[in-house]
Amino acid sequence: MLSTAQTLDKQDSLAGLRQQFLLPQNTVYLDGNSLGPLPVAAKERAVEVVNQQWGQDLITSWNQHAWIDLPQQCGELIAPVIGAAPGQVICCDSISVNLFKVLSGALKMQQGRQKVVTTKDNFPTDIYVIEGLKQQLGAASCELVLSDESDIEAQLDESVAMLLLTQVNFRSGRLLDMQRITEAAHARGILVIWDLAHSAGALPVKLDECKADFAVGCTYKYLNGGPGAPAFIYVAHRHQTAFKQPLSGWMGHAAPFSFDSDYAPVQGVKQNLSGTPAVIAMSVLEAALSIWSQVDMLQVRQKSLAMGEFFLECLKACELDKELVCVSPDSALERGSQLAFQHEQAYAICQAWIDAGVIADFRAPDLLRIGFTPLYVSFEELWIAVNKLKLIIENKDYLSEAYQSLQTVT
Ligand SMILES: *Cc1c(COP(=O)(O)O)cnc(C)c1O
Repeated sequence: MLSTAQTLDKQDSLAGLRQQFLLPQNTVYLDGNSLGPLPVAAKERAVEVVNQQWGQDLITSWNQHAWIDLPQQCGELIAPVIGAAPGQVICCDSISVNLFKVLSGALKMQQGRQKVVTTKDNFPTDIYVIEGLKQQLGAASCELVLSDESDIEAQLDESVAMLLLTQVNFRSGRLLDMQRITEAAHARGILVIWDLAHSAGALPVKLDECKADFAVGCTYKYLNGGPGAPAFIYVAHRHQTAFKQPLSGWMGHAAPFSFDSDYAPVQGVKQNLSGTPAVIAMSVLEAALSIWSQVDMLQVRQKSLAMGEFFLECLKACELDKELVCVSPDSALERGSQLAFQHEQAYAICQAWIDAGVIADFRAPDLLRIGFTPLYVSFEELWIAVNKLKLIIENKDYLSEAYQSLQTVT
């Protein structure tokens, strides 16, 4: 397997990109689906924005260093990665807040319909936001319908206002068919919101081509924007006149610096801004996003698929495929860029693996989750990681007391 890994690494056209990231020595990082590592450009920008722009240029930086344009600038850098033409993506807030804005605004466009369909095993915040909006508006205006992932299309009828789906399931990694589902929803007059948390930067996303209505996503996972980096929101051009988000704030005003007491929303996706952008975080994000103009998402997808398949082969070669039960779809084409395995000791195994220099993560109640990030992980590292895992499982290292108690963040 080692020589296969080395051959794959030699043929890897993305291999050169790794030098644009600062990764610790002797660490195999398989958790870029939770927190992307630090890009060199992002670190340099952090120093520049703090020392020079904030420290020396002070408030003049809003104009001099175009701080005021960062939300749009970052949005335009994300747009091509998710298949969006210019003028439809803006960077702001978190996914949770953006979901609230987009769901509230879109529901208003669907007068006479109140159902919001999502999946039972969607990322909890997506479900919480619908529940919160239901509390706010009352059940007559917003009704939550939870569907099995396999049964989504059966839920779609003329009583449904909105369909809110995460394109890649955060646990299993199952990839939904954006094109087919969006089309089925539109045929019944339903608007669709796609959560791209585990797809933006992980695989080619085609929002415009699929005629998606709205989308949200975060930038700290596959987009490497840094911990808590601002999220993004996509509103298709055709909805930008009718759609009004409810958190009307001065940054979404047509003329914020006229300090007019009457709210007049700016035209376009910019109306999704509410308050002052997090300039330091967004500057760092802007620098991190520069890498995407150098990569072809088809190549990223190709390597990601190959990494997933190679990882499974390594598990087999190490006879771990019985011990760790794969809960991700069998077919690579039905997966995002991750694999998840069930084991009753998943948490302790993950902790022991981290101690051995391999970082993956655990998702309650019993999943070991492994993210494949083609920009900076090699095939040889996958082989090293699986060998370490083999030792941990063979020696039952995970039973050690130190690995058994859950930390606050898992
Ligand atoms: C990571 C993730 C989020 C995170 O939401 P924030 O509000 O940005 O913290 C939301 N939805 C999904 C599907 C995720 O995977």
